[in-house]
Parts: sequence; structure tokens; C-alpha cells
Amino acid sequence: MGHDAPMNLPGLDMTISPSPDLSPYRAILTVDLDALVANYARSRELAGGAEVSGVVKADAYGHGLAQVGRALASAGCKTFFVADVTEGATLRAALPGVVIYTSSGLTPGAGAEMRTHDLRPCLGNLAEVEAWRREAEHAGSALPAALHFDTGLNRLGFDDREASRVLADRSLLAGIDVALVMSHLACADEPGHALNARQLERFKPIRAAFPSARASLANTAGILLGPDYHFDLVRPGYGLYGGAPVEGQPNPFRLVAKAEARVLHIREVAAGESSGYGATWTADRSQRLAVLSVGYADGYFRALASANGAGRVYIGGHYAPVAGRVSMDLLTVDVSDIPEGRVRRGDLAELVGPHVSLDEVANRAGTIGYEVLTSLGERYKRLYTGAVATAES
Ligand SMILES: *Cc1c(COP(=O)(O)O)cnc(C)c1O
Repeated sequence: MGHDAPMNLPGLDMTISPSPDLSPYRAILTVDLDALVANYARSRELAGGAEVSGVVKADAYGHGLAQVGRALASAGCKTFFVADVTEGATLRAALPGVVIYTSSGLTPGAGAEMRTHDLRPCLGNLAEVEAWRREAEHAGSALPAALHFDTGLNRLGFDDREASRVLADRSLLAGIDVALVMSHLACADEPGHALNARQLERFKPIRAAFPSARASLANTAGILLGPDYHFDLVRPGYGLYGGAPVEGQPNPFRLVAKAEARVLHIREVAAGESSGYGATWTADRSQRLAVLSVGYADGYFRALASANGAGRVYIGGHYAPVAGRVSMDLLTVDVSDIPEGRVRRGDLAELVGPHVSLDEVANRAGTIGYEVLTSLGERYKRLYTGAVATAES
């Protein structure tokens, strides 16, 4: 892919690019928006009749906030969750008409800007409630928000003491239009964990105390816990991007992102010679190495070079293991066992994608797929494919 040069057609005053010329880019992230939209549709099936929102914090888990937001909106998504006001402002510019919540709440001092961009905070303590009430006074009208109750994660959200106060004294909420009551599960990816049922039982009376608000408890893995956990609105993130919600169980979602890096150089290394910082890798015979154009600054973790389970890339129809330490911008892989000529300078190697799964990379790096995706970062040339992407351009 990507090698097709623009073609000038004789007699026609136009240039056709059969596919974009990717040759200038050293690292490419291909985002399949059709797969994203399919995962959204799958989430809808799994969530029964509940509304499916889109969680697009952290630049849509590294996939591009505006592009992902527009694709989800075209698939019918009307409610979005970002982390904070900065992300909210970016999404608002792309999507004027949707509902946007900030799941990290109301940052001190952010109230006015929240209002400017028509964002709704997930209020999780009385200080935030008080700040949003003051914003409502400035606005001269009630302002919508979610109330976030902690039911066992012990992170954000009203603790038991503040929850009792809010439930007992509704005047605390004067000027706030409670559009949503929510909580967040700690262990949804472990379906048998006792905390799931405990959080559910704690959430029920809270939900009942706000009959005119909508209610939300489930992230991606929470959707799979069954209808009891769905309430009015579910909040998938990871699943929309193709992540497997529960380790060891079949993944109902499709892969969305593929990360590739270019071969910059191929070299022979004589037996006994080392490669890379620290000279941790040594050739045991005459070996061939391919130097790829990504490193830890591109989210290719140094941990993927550890001796006890090194990472591998897919290149020229074969796998090649990481050889030696990962550098900031460079990665060296051993292509000695790949037939000569199959790997050439300028080729692309798959780092994460259909042949090297997100779970594999995460496991070998000692982390989770969420961290792999959100670490890929902005050094990749992002390429959007699929009917949604085509319809936009
Ligand atoms: C990130 C987040 C989600 C999405 O979780 P996934 O496991 O990615 O589906 C849902 N709700 C809240 C409050 C979050 O912070």
C-alpha cells in the first residue's frame, strides 16, 4: 500500500491519487472508521434498548478526537464523554449539536469556559456542585450536569457522606438541571468479581432518588455484565476501538487502528557484534537487522525489548523479534530468518494491527491495551479509511 504515485492522465486536466502517497511518512496510524462504526452498532445490540454514548477522552484513545467524534455521530451517537474542558472544546468545534460530558468533573476555574462550549460536567463533590451553581447564577438559567456517585471505585464521585447530604437536601442542587446520574465500575472486566454486584446494589437507590434523570453505570465491560447494568445509557470506550473487554473471552469488537513503521535501513551484523544501547543483543552468527522508524517516543515501549517476552513486528509476511533496546526514535528487529529480499528499505512493518494484536503487545509490555493505544501519540501520520471517512472528504 501507499506506493502509488499520483498519476497524470493525458488529455485530462486532473490528477488522480488511487491512494494517498504515504512515502514521506515514517510512521502511519491507519484508523478504520468503518470498524469503529461497526463496533458502535455492536455495542447497541449488546446494550439492548439503552442509549450508547461514545467515550472519546484522550484524543479518542489515540485515534483522533474530531474524526472519531464525527464518525460516531454519523452512526447515531448523540452523547459523548471527554475528560475535561480542553478536550470538550475540541469536540464541540467538530460537533455543534451533541451532548458532551466531562468525566473528570469540573476543574477549578473552568466553569466559564465549560459554559462557553456548552459542556456538562460530571459533578462528583459538593465543591463542584457549588461552583456549577454559581455558573448557573451567572447564566441566569439552570445548567445541565451529571451527578457522579462513587459506589466502590473510591476515585471521583460523591462519597457516602456527601451523597447522603445531596439526597437529603435538594436545595444544594438549585440551579442545576440533573440530566444524568452515573457511577463507574471498578472491576467490570472481571465478571465474577463481587464488587460488580455490590456497586450495582449501591447504585439502585441513588438512581431511584432521581426519577426524572437518566442513569448510567456501564463502561464497555459493564455492558457485557448484562441488562441489569445497562440502565438508560451505557458508556463504552475501549470496545469502540476494538479492545477485548474481558481477557480470555471472545472479543465481540473489530480492530480499528493499525500502527506501522518504515524500514530505514537493513544491515548485516557479524557474529559476536552487538546492537543497540547497552549492547544487550549480540549476533550469534552473521545476522540481518532491520532498523525501523519508531521508538519509545512513539509509544513503542522499552519494555517490549525485555528478554522475557520481547515484542515482535510483522513484516514481509513474517514475524521479526525486537533485537536489543528500543531507542527514542528507532527500533531494531531481527530479520535473519526472513528470506532475503522480502524486507526492503522503505517497507512498512506492522507494530500493532491484524497480525500483532493489541493484547499481545500489551501483555508483552506488561500493560493493558488502553495504555498501548493512548501512547501511540501524534507522531504518526493518521490515515482514516472507510465509507464514513470517504463521505467526509
Ligand atoms: C473511560 C471511562 C469509560 C469508558 O471505559 P472503557 O473501559 O474504555 O469502556 C466510561 N466511563 C467513565 C467515567 C470513564 O472514565
